Amino acid sequence: MITLEHLSKWYGSTQVLDDCSTQIEKGEVVVICGPSGSGKSTLIKCVNGLEPFQKGTISVDGISVGDPATNLPKLRSRIGMVFQSFELYPHMSVVGNICLAQLHVLKRSEDAARARALELLDRVGLRSHADRFPSTLSGGQQQRVAIARALALDPIAMLFDEPTSALDPEMINEVLDVMTELAKDGMTMVVVTHEMGFARRVADRVLFMDAGAIVEDAKTAAFFDKPVSERAARFLSKIL
Ligand code: ADP
Ligand code: MG
Repeated sequence: MITLEHLSKWYGSTQVLDDCSTQIEKGEVVVICGPSGSGKSTLIKCVNGLEPFQKGTISVDGISVGDPATNLPKLRSRIGMVFQSFELYPHMSVVGNICLAQLHVLKRSEDAARARALELLDRVGLRSHADRFPSTLSGGQQQRVAIARALALDPIAMLFDEPTSALDPEMINEVLDVMTELAKDGMTMVVVTHEMGFARRVADRVLFMDAGAIVEDAKTAAFFDKPVSERAARFLSKIL
C-alpha cells in the first residue's frame, strides 16, 4: 500500500531524512517512534505529499508521490491525516466539520454527507454531540471528531502524528480505543506515537527513527523483546 525507497530529504543544507526504506501492506498497523527531531513528522508528511523530498521514491497505492504529474490534492484526499492539534473549524458544528470535505471534495449530497457523518460519529461514540461546537467538547472528544472527519473521505490509509500528545492523560485512552477499533476493522495505519502500550497491543510492526534514519524496522514482539539497535534499546528503557 505504501512503499518508501531510499527516501532522503533536506531542509536547505540540513539533512532530515536519511535513506529511509520500508513497505507497509494493506491492513497493516505500523507505529513510528523515536526521539524528538528524528524526522517522524517529516516522514509521514512526505507520504501524503505535504512535504517535498529530494531523493528516493514514495508510492501510495501504486501512485508515485514525487512524480510531478501526480495529482497531489487528489492523492491527499484519499489519505486520512490526524495531527496532534485537532484543527477543527471552530465556527462549524461537529457534524458540519465532518460534512465539509465530503461536500467539496467528494461532491456528496448534503443528505448523504450528513448520514455518513452521523454514522461515523456513532462509531467514535459522539452521535449525541453532532450539533455542538468544537469548543464545547473536551480535547479527547475533539480528536475523535478529527478522526471521524478524516474517515469521512473513505481513506485508503490513515496517518496519525502524535494524536494523543496534546491530551490530558485521562483522555488519551478514549482516542486510542477509537484507533484500536479502526485497526481491528482492517484500516491501514501509520501512527507516530510514544504510547508504547498501544504500540504493543495494536501495531504489527514498529519503526524506530533516529537522526532521520529508520534504524529499526521490526515486528512488534521482536521490537519490544530485543531491539537490535542500542539507540532503540536505550529509548525503550527510558519510556517503558
Ligand atoms: P519529529 O517529528 O521526529 O520530532 P520532525 O520531522 O518534526 O521530527 O523534524 C525533523 C528535523 O527537521 C528536526 O531537526 C527539525 O528541526 C527539522 N525541521 C522540521 N521542520 C522544519 C522546517 N519547516 N524547516 C527546517 N527544519 C525543519
Ligand atoms: Mg513530530
